[in-house]
Amino acid sequence: MTRGYRASLSGATPAEFPVSLSYHFSMPDAPASILSFEDARHVVEEQAALVATTGTDSVDLLAASGRVLAEAVLADRDLPPFPRSTRDGYAVRSADLAHLPATLDVIGEIKAGEKLDRIPAHIASGQTVSIMTGAPVPAGADAVVMVEYSSQRGKQVEITRNVAPGENIVGCGAEARQGSLLLDRGLRLTEAGVALAASVGKSRLQVYKRPRVAVLTTGDEIVDVATTPGPTQIRNSNSYSLAAQILRAGGQPVLLPVAPDESQALRQLIELGLKSDLLLLTGGVSMGRYDLVEQVLAEMHADFFFTGAKIQPGRPVVFGKCDLSKYGAGAAFDNLRAGFARERASAPGGTYFFGLPGNPVSTMVTFELFARPMLEALAGQTPRKLTFLHARLKSEVRVKTGLTRFLPALVSGEFENSQVELVAWHGSGDIAATARANCYVVIPPNRESVAAGDWVAIMMR
Ligand code: AMP
Ligand code: MG
Repeated sequence: MTRGYRASLSGATPAEFPVSLSYHFSMPDAPASILSFEDARHVVEEQAALVATTGTDSVDLLAASGRVLAEAVLADRDLPPFPRSTRDGYAVRSADLAHLPATLDVIGEIKAGEKLDRIPAHIASGQTVSIMTGAPVPAGADAVVMVEYSSQRGKQVEITRNVAPGENIVGCGAEARQGSLLLDRGLRLTEAGVALAASVGKSRLQVYKRPRVAVLTTGDEIVDVATTPGPTQIRNSNSYSLAAQILRAGGQPVLLPVAPDESQALRQLIELGLKSDLLLLTGGVSMGRYDLVEQVLAEMHADFFFTGAKIQPGRPVVFGKCDLSKYGAGAAFDNLRAGFARERASAPGGTYFFGLPGNPVSTMVTFELFARPMLEALAGQTPRKLTFLHARLKSEVRVKTGLTRFLPALVSGEFENSQVELVAWHGSGDIAATARANCYVVIPPNRESVAAGDWVAIMMR
């Protein structure tokens, strides 16, 4: 793996997008590649395609929602297992309804779950059975007329509307044949997947273990939520937003102690974090004198895939991989580290890490754009492309060109009339504004403005 990977794709020179060069002369192989949003995303997707998961759990179906399937689920019988009526009405031979109204002899009634020996073996021409939704349609009948178009008197029924062959019947095995694949490995289970598993009798499922994701917040000003901050201190919110995002994406967050802006302590905590399946750092990746994350990782011989993306918020985001065995980590934190001794999900040759910018909105956005696909891959999920929804913009948005923007916004409206509006915010540190938002408006880098009423892409939260 080479440093400055795919840097040429970005078309950006260091002069256009300067990164901290202060240590480039003292450190070997110093990284410097700022990619477009799309290229950065593709780099993550390429790396995510290389990772493997470890280990599976067996879970009760009730606990399976949101988990990633580690086994293929097959149809244990034809679905439906019999030709199923989808209406309450009369099972008929459609040809008998050529002339309307038609009068037919009612030779029985079939309710859902009817015993086989109570179902007429065959319907002859001129005959019908009264049938309920979910009941098996008897042989000879090829359609069901809805009860609304009938009037029964004694053993006869008058039908006032015709039906096409097959109407209101789902054929035996039409949804799935016995033995066919219903749910594949790598699928994240939704309620529909859970329902399908239930329908074929899977009361327990094999799922992949949740990857452990270490969260390392950096910054001398950061204190824990339980601490009363001093006048210039800030409570740690990023570890908590990340933990929420990690859980939602199928991972298991492991919160490390907050790292000070000091190389030695930072390095020790990074070493510890690299024992997890994935390491997320926040803060310390900008150009400030005390932004040490890249420098320390470079000293640890990390490989950097990119050191920035042309996005806002989140431009200084860093993505790389670090192999502790190559680096020869020290013995610090051995007692804490023992807790990490388990099978790991990462690909051989190191642990992937993301250095997410510390501004809280940047942290949230860059997790969603870049860390999430890697985490999903480590969780065993089949990769999927990032897709955006669309809504009409309520009021004009003006921005400078050059960066793909992800601006906190509120989508509202009803039914087909979805409208979206930016929330008023004070930049990427404004958690209060972002908490009022329910999506991000995505503005491509070549657009200076988007007019009111235009369709814009939105990324939902
Ligand atoms: P940095 O990326 O370290 O330059 O930090 C950028 C801004 O985000 C600064 O205002 C930090 O105080 C703030 N920040 C960094 N980490 C956190 C955190 N864990 N929780 C809340 N704010 C943070
Ligand atoms: Mg900082």
